[in-house]
Amino acid sequence: MNPTALPVAVIGAGPVGLAAAAHLHERGIPFVVFEVGDDVATSVRDWAHVQLFSPWSYNIDPAARRLLEASGWVAPDGDEHPTGGELIEHYLVPLTSLPGIGSALRTNRLVTGITRAGTDKITTAGRSETPFQITTEGPFGPERTLARAVIDATGTWFTPNPVGADGRPAIGERHAADLIEAGIPDVLGRDRRRYARRRVAVVGSGHSAQNAVRDLAVLAERTPGTEVTWIVRRSDPGQMFGGKANDQLPERGRLGADAEHVVDNGVVQLVTGFRTDRITYASDQATLVAVDGRQVGPFDRIVNATGFRPDMAMLSELRVDVDPVLQSARALAPMIDPNVHSCGSVPPHGAAELAHPEPGFYIVGAKSYGRAPTFLLATGYEQVRSVVADLAGDHAASKDVQLILPETGVCSLDRTPAHAAPVPDRTTLITVPDAAGVCCN
Ligand SMILES: Cc1cc2nc3c(=O)[nH]c(=O)nc-3n(C[C@H](O)[C@H](O)[C@H](O)COP(=O)(O)OP(=O)(O)OC[C@H]3O[C@@H](n4cnc5c(N)ncnc54)[C@H](O)[C@@H]3O)c2cc1C
Repeated sequence: MNPTALPVAVIGAGPVGLAAAAHLHERGIPFVVFEVGDDVATSVRDWAHVQLFSPWSYNIDPAARRLLEASGWVAPDGDEHPTGGELIEHYLVPLTSLPGIGSALRTNRLVTGITRAGTDKITTAGRSETPFQITTEGPFGPERTLARAVIDATGTWFTPNPVGADGRPAIGERHAADLIEAGIPDVLGRDRRRYARRRVAVVGSGHSAQNAVRDLAVLAERTPGTEVTWIVRRSDPGQMFGGKANDQLPERGRLGADAEHVVDNGVVQLVTGFRTDRITYASDQATLVAVDGRQVGPFDRIVNATGFRPDMAMLSELRVDVDPVLQSARALAPMIDPNVHSCGSVPPHGAAELAHPEPGFYIVGAKSYGRAPTFLLATGYEQVRSVVADLAGDHAASKDVQLILPETGVCSLDRTPAHAAPVPDRTTLITVPDAAGVCCN
């Protein structure tokens, strides 16, 4: 069999997977997109009520824009900030309505495994000439599809970190699962009844936590009896609220400033230095117990905003090489490691930095960042442009990566006590030059 006659398989029809599809279509490379949901962007639908902090000008992939504009689509105002729902409605749905993209989309397909056909991880002979085999679960049961290359754009949304501070579920966390919700519940809309007049804990300190805290503070002001406690691991809030007015994305800066404001004005109680060890559950309420024995609660609801991690299970028979700390692409790790900095920018990178020992296999999008929290769509769009150029044999275009991202305004070495641990040793890492000349340390 000639693998080059096979399609490229894109796993995940989120913004980055669909951008990969647009680039593949533009270059005339056959492809198929597998998506577990019954429509595109299943993850983004979960946070459809959340306003993006990047404006439209950052949120549309250039190849997708070219295809859409050729069909008569008019781009939204580049300075406006869409919600997740508007990103889907005004950009991703029109993109998949284009025949060249929509005809390649296979929804309701959960990818459960990617291998070299008939070959496990150990076998080397003939490996790079052997097609990839993608196993999916769907309405017709398990199916297998052969592909010449695989672009994994499955994100990290479905694998949240646990509440437990050590990265494992806290003792009792599973027992209290009915009270715990990962992500950013729509407390002012769809999920309001579950949160109004309740005692609510938000655990975590990133942008998702800030979003949840900001919305819950509004709910608390509108609905007496709603109490909000914000629980973070760091003992000094330090840079937790971001660069605020110094952030090059003003809406991202405003998010941190608003979160700080609702703490300062007492609507939200901030508990710092709290490393959750166990959760006790009684009478439909949960109390969090820290490693140092402190207790907070009881709570009726817990919002778990502790971040996400990549699901590597479906890749177990591929030769995948990720950073041991972040589980990100190895070359990116030193630039995005929150132990070191919180810049929000990353040097330009593409197919070369995203390659694995398994030729023809790439992890892109939010999943390429592993556990690191600062991924931006613009990064993913440039990643897939480079990867698809490489697959097309256009190595000059693949290497010519261009990416200048807006910084958070806190682009410095983080020396707060909670982050005083030594920077992980990555002496074996490939280093990527800081082409923008502005980031980091
Ligand atoms: C609340 C929130 C706000 C954000 N705001 C911004 C912002 O303002 N600006 C910005 O640039 N970035 C923002 N991001 C970061 C990032 O751009 C988004 O997370 C974005 O959705 C990542 O796109 P993706 O395509 O890599 O992954 P996802 O959007 O997560 O898409 C992955 C897709 O893969 C599918 N999938 C997963 N597993 C499988 C499987 N096994 N088989 C088949 N399909 C599968 C999913 O259903 C999903 O459709 C935000 C993130 C969050 C969570």
